[in-house]
Amino acid sequence: MFLLRLRNATLLALLTLGCLLIAGCGEKPQTAAETAPATKTVYNWKLAMTWPSNFPIFSDAVDHFAASVKTMSDGQLLIQIDSANKTKAPFGVLDMVNAGQYEMGHTASYYWKGTEPSTMFFTTMPFGMTAPEQYAWFYYGGGMELMQKVYAKHGVYSFPGGNTGVQMGGWFRKEIKTLKDLKGLKMRVPGFAGEVLAQLGVVVTNIAPGELYTSLERGNIDALEWVGPALDLKMGFQKIAPFYYTGWHEPASELQFLVNRQAFDALPKNLQEILVTAMKAETLDAYAHMFNDNAVGLASLRTEFPEVKLRTFPKEILDALKQANQRLVDETAAKDPLFKEVLDSQRAYLAKVRPWSIVSDYAYMKDNQEN
Ligand code: CA
Repeated sequence: MFLLRLRNATLLALLTLGCLLIAGCGEKPQTAAETAPATKTVYNWKLAMTWPSNFPIFSDAVDHFAASVKTMSDGQLLIQIDSANKTKAPFGVLDMVNAGQYEMGHTASYYWKGTEPSTMFFTTMPFGMTAPEQYAWFYYGGGMELMQKVYAKHGVYSFPGGNTGVQMGGWFRKEIKTLKDLKGLKMRVPGFAGEVLAQLGVVVTNIAPGELYTSLERGNIDALEWVGPALDLKMGFQKIAPFYYTGWHEPASELQFLVNRQAFDALPKNLQEILVTAMKAETLDAYAHMFNDNAVGLASLRTEFPEVKLRTFPKEILDALKQANQRLVDETAAKDPLFKEVLDSQRAYLAKVRPWSIVSDYAYMKDNQEN
């Protein structure tokens, strides 16, 4: 009570002092126009996503992000979401955000490798960093700056947008024991990993997600990769391919938010901060959501489909994949200075953080596998 009275007395003294310092203070009654809050501009934005509506985890994350921005901005920044069902252009997101047709996009950076090979590094690279290592690179190792440098010429800012963690190496109808088993094997695998596998004799194709199950079932392809148990089991691959391999090719697939530069720069500072903070929060949420659902998926795979055999590729194959990958990235780097700049940054960062990953997470898990 005493403290409260003291605080009130101090406040009164300060107000009085303020009135003495400000000329005219307290002399004139305020008009209604002066007391009414200023009308705030409402920004109506649109976001195009590569995913169809109700796509597990990915579209949930975007919905949650938009709702969060609306609440935090008190209705001043509204983001309408258009799924791939509406845009009919799942791989046109970069162009549409660049053109200002959409202020934002949610997608994955490696889809733009045909336009700009160095965009692949901001999703994942075969034998690259794990998700914690890659987040450290983005936020504290120069990754964000390099990503803006790559995307500046495409008229957009790019931000991390959630991570799948290590993706599984794929579903195979036959066991892969030696390099010979890969010769002529028909496999759906997109991105840089496809180019690496092609070096080992795999016949690589890319097939739309909706046709994957039928293609594998009918034998048009012998193998495919998708994501991990969280999403793969919903596709039903476990019913038609008995060998499920651990991953090497997408160790930390980061999703991506794109923001049109002009639209972002035109926002007031507080809304920019809300947007950036909401994207970061959603990134963590999507990563945790995916980790949870992968764990749940693996458990149900083991109980409901015990005939599925989990395998890791033999060392002979992993060594050959590693060599082919290194050769291919070095060839691309020799032709593309920006690709080389990002490659050098990631290689140096991996060399810096991997020893800590091994001494911390790896050492801990290696000795506690009974969990
Ligand atoms: Ca994949």
